[in-house]
Amino acid sequence: MDINLFDGLEDLGLGDMMDVSIFGDDGGKKVAELQEEAMLIDKSYECFVCSSDFKCKTVRSGKAKLLSTDTDLRQKYEGIEPLKYDIVACPECGFAAATRFFNPLSPGQVKLIREKISANYKKQEGEKSLIDFDEAIKRYKLALANTVVKKGPDSEKAYICLRAGWLCRSYAEEIASASVRDDEKYKSIKALEDEFLKGAYEGFVNSRNNEIFPICGMDKATVDYLVACLACRFGFYDVSAKVISTLLSSSSVPPRVKDRARDLKEELMHKVKS
Ligand SMILES: [Zn+2]
Repeated sequence: MDINLFDGLEDLGLGDMMDVSIFGDDGGKKVAELQEEAMLIDKSYECFVCSSDFKCKTVRSGKAKLLSTDTDLRQKYEGIEPLKYDIVACPECGFAAATRFFNPLSPGQVKLIREKISANYKKQEGEKSLIDFDEAIKRYKLALANTVVKKGPDSEKAYICLRAGWLCRSYAEEIASASVRDDEKYKSIKALEDEFLKGAYEGFVNSRNNEIFPICGMDKATVDYLVACLACRFGFYDVSAKVISTLLSSSSVPPRVKDRARDLKEELMHKVKS
């Protein structure tokens, strides 16, 4: 016979407790969640569209320990994915932007966001103690929609797409390491990573031609390197080879970027051969 330790609580109006697991579904996960929570603090904002005051979680500076950097510059941290907390979203009106771009708007942009976002936006509850990957992906999509509506520059769209793609990679890694792997979810998240990174590629190619550096806090060499990297990923080998050779032959490119460009060149040659 199954005995439920919460049996009888329904008399106190707490019938919902019958379905609650005492130690959580996965003990390890709970500890990980507590560790993540300890790395976060609330930050207060005033919305540039509706003037509401609201709070968003942000990673305490110096708390996340860097573990590694991928070829496309995505950084991996111990015990937390800081990208989950890098979108500031107003729960009242739906205005959202990447932290770096959460800046005052022109009256025309406020009008556009009110008409095309806020008018249909369903008000959200206050900030939760943690943001999960699905919620974080939703926020990146909302920030991207806001950037399109406010007619933001291509670099801002590319920046959001790049980081959303990295976030998806991180999510897929979590799914792959779970004790029971959800293959369908894994595939759909990897497909979403590709879509976001394609957006990043297109946006950075455009902004390289039309905008003044630095772009999103990155110098020209770094943006060029990213373009070469993404071109290699999506099979635009000629573009990738051309950008890499320009980087390697330029005297103004910093050695750290040249080192990465050399590694990328090897990867590219390997891909072309196979
Ligand atoms: Zn607002």
